[in-house]
Order: sequence, then C-alpha cells, then structure tokens
Amino acid sequence: MNSLVAAGTAKSEVGDPAPGALFADLHLHSLFSDGTFTPEELAGRGREAGLAAMSLTDHDTVEGCARMAQACQALGIDFIVGTELTAEFEHKEIHLLGYFLDPQNAPLLSEMKKFQAVRKSRIHEMVARLNEINIPLRAEAVFALANCRSPGRPHVARALVQEGHCQSLDEAFERFLKKGRSAWVPKCKISALDAVTLIHQAGGLAVMAHPGLNHCDDILPTLAGQGLDGIECFHTKHSAKMSRHYLNLAARLNLLVTGGSDCHGFSKGKPLIGGVKLPGIYWEKLKAAPRNREGRRAVILGASS
Ligand code: AMP
Ligand code: ZN
Ligand code: FE
Ligand code: FE
Repeated sequence: MNSLVAAGTAKSEVGDPAPGALFADLHLHSLFSDGTFTPEELAGRGREAGLAAMSLTDHDTVEGCARMAQACQALGIDFIVGTELTAEFEHKEIHLLGYFLDPQNAPLLSEMKKFQAVRKSRIHEMVARLNEINIPLRAEAVFALANCRSPGRPHVARALVQEGHCQSLDEAFERFLKKGRSAWVPKCKISALDAVTLIHQAGGLAVMAHPGLNHCDDILPTLAGQGLDGIECFHTKHSAKMSRHYLNLAARLNLLVTGGSDCHGFSKGKPLIGGVKLPGIYWEKLKAAPRNREGRRAVILGASS
C-alpha cells in the first residue's frame, strides 16, 4: 500500500493522516491580503510542516501566486493558484475558494479589481465610524500597515492595536469590527452563483469555504446543483464531528473534498499552517477533477446514471 492509499484509512477521514502519508494545506493567506507571511515564508513553513501541496487563497487577489508557485517549485511542493471570494446567497455571507485559476484571466482580474476598490472605500468608512465614536484612527495608518491591494478588517484591527486603542486583535473585533458592532461595514458581495461562474470561466474549481462557520448547510444542495465543485470539509475551526458531517454531505452531493488551516501568519497568534492536513487521497481527486463546467457536469451525470 503506498502512502497516498494509506492516507485514505479510517483515521485519516477526519484529517489526521497516517505517519508518512502525504497531506496538503489548501487555505493560506499572505501579506498580499490579510496574512503576515510573504509567499516565500509560507512555502518555507509549509516545507517545515511536511506539506506535499499548498494553495495560496488570498482574499480577492491572485497577486502572490506567481511568487508562491516559484517558491514551492524550488522546495518540491505542489502548488495551485487560489483565491477566496466573499459572496452572498439568500442574504447569507459565504466564502468561496477558487482553485486552479488562470492568474491572467481578464474577467477574473477585472472583478477582483472592483472588489479591491470596495475594500479600500470600506476601510475609509470603518475609520469614519471609529472617528465618530472618538477613536482617532487615520485611514492612512491602516493603508500603510496593510500595504496591499486587498485591505480588510484584520488590518484595521492591527492598526487599532498598534496605536494603543485596543490590547489585542480579538478585542478590536469584539468591540468594533465584528458584524453588528459600531465600526462594522458590510462588504459589497457578488452573488454565489456569479462567483461560481467567475471561477469556472477562469478555469477553476469553486469550493465552499468553512461551511461550519457560515452555517450554510441548507444552501449546499442548491449551490451544488448550480455548479459548486467542492466543500472545505477540513478547517481549523471545524471539529472532527463537523468534518465527518461535511465529508458525508460531500459524498451525498458528489462534491470534491478540500481542507486547509486558513493561516493568517502571526495575525492570530501561533501560525496555523500545516495544522489542518488534507489527506493526499482528496488532493489527488481534486487534481484529477475536470476543470471546466461541461466536463464536471459529465462526471456528475455519469456518476448518477
Ligand atoms: P474582511 O474580509 O475584511 O471582512 O475580514 C475578514 C477576515 O477577518 C477573515 O479572514 C477572518 O479571519 C478575520 N476575522 C473575522 N472575524 C474575526 C474575529 N472575530 N477575530 C479575528 N479575526 C476575525
Ligand atoms: Zn482573512
Ligand atoms: Fe473565510
Ligand atoms: Fe480565509
């Protein structure tokens, strides 16, 4: 039995591969969005963690992927181009991961540019709301700290800590930034269906990120019927029971299985990279999956007939 087959044993079904088995971390953020590591640092830490494959899934950008691909190649690690898009389905916010994207795809880059513009104006709005409640933060301080095209709430949180308004990032989210708090500003979102279409036309596979965090089980069958390709069953914030639940759901809906740590570097304490281990068997299925809609549909029809 080779190591990839060994990775599909019962123990590994909850993301705990047998010793020596290959595994992947397919959900990582770099400083091209709200992570703190460079793509090269992520690749190096991935190597230390023993990862066989990685994907960079920065919010609304694929900018760091070329560097990460190069760094991974030098270390003998498989790499796939990825991103994480914020989308909306029936007024619920969901996150969609896109994998195997063409990083030069014009419609994808053009939509991402729009999302990035919205992110920037949202920072101004969040800062204005903080100023209204006498927190004298300046947008320039947030942008200087973010230093990327996809600034987000974690950058505002870091600026609040850096300037002494909060003791920790958690405090910043709790007091000001989480949904419903005084400086929370909703993000303009693309519909889930449009996001799936955008990912597909860029040659990618669309995967529901951390469904256990977004409480979106009810929409998975509908989205699967509309082209969703996979479910992120393994995630830092999914319990073993939750992972099993989503593995069952993925099997029932004939969806691919992915997993990743959602590492943001040092922004949330100890780096999480490699903490979630997607067994190689799922990674191989993902790699083998047809990347275009028609091909995928043919596989689904073939499986159900
Ligand atoms: P944004 O895309 O600007 O809405 O920011 C979302 C990011 O903020 C995600 O990557 C989350 O990991 C992070 N985030 C959301 N809620 C919290 C929280 N309560 N504490 C720390 N980070 C959070
Ligand atoms: Zn993030
Ligand atoms: Fe997310
Ligand atoms: Fe993420």
